[in-house]
Amino acid sequence: MISCELKHLAARCRQRGYTLDEVRPCIVSEDGDQITVDVDHPAYPRAPKPGFVPSQPKPLEPAPDLTRTDAPSFLTKVKNFAVATAGHVAAGMPMASDEEILRRHDICRACEFLKDNACTKCGCPIVRERQYVSKLSWADQECPIGKWGKATPSGPSRP
Ligand code: SF4
Repeated sequence: MISCELKHLAARCRQRGYTLDEVRPCIVSEDGDQITVDVDHPAYPRAPKPGFVPSQPKPLEPAPDLTRTDAPSFLTKVKNFAVATAGHVAAGMPMASDEEILRRHDICRACEFLKDNACTKCGCPIVRERQYVSKLSWADQECPIGKWGKATPSGPSRP
């Protein structure tokens, strides 16, 4: 005899190709989800049901190559920065609030494309301090893959 939860017996049934109704005669008592099972009963799913073919686990997807960053080249970074700066100036250099900068920074820190405090998608530095040039503090900027968007400008524009 064993005591277990009904779901454990149900899991054993699935593994071995039975329905719970087929094995129910081996349950000698039930108390809510707790059951007592006679494992010597002929209905107990001791072995796979004849003819039952267990489903094969799906093959694992190849692991991503975490060493590959696909970081933009230096030239692309310069171009991205020039485009971002031109857009920022054209928009009146709107600044994001401190809360928004921290929110964006938290998202970037959890992002798989952050490497050595820079975004490997656009090449921009990811720093939360306002005094550094960072797209996190520019309200008109957005994540290149949409993880965070433009923000409502906060306070006066500053360079
Ligand atoms: S800007 Fe976007 S892609 Fe780049 S590190 Fe931040 S969340 Fe990731």
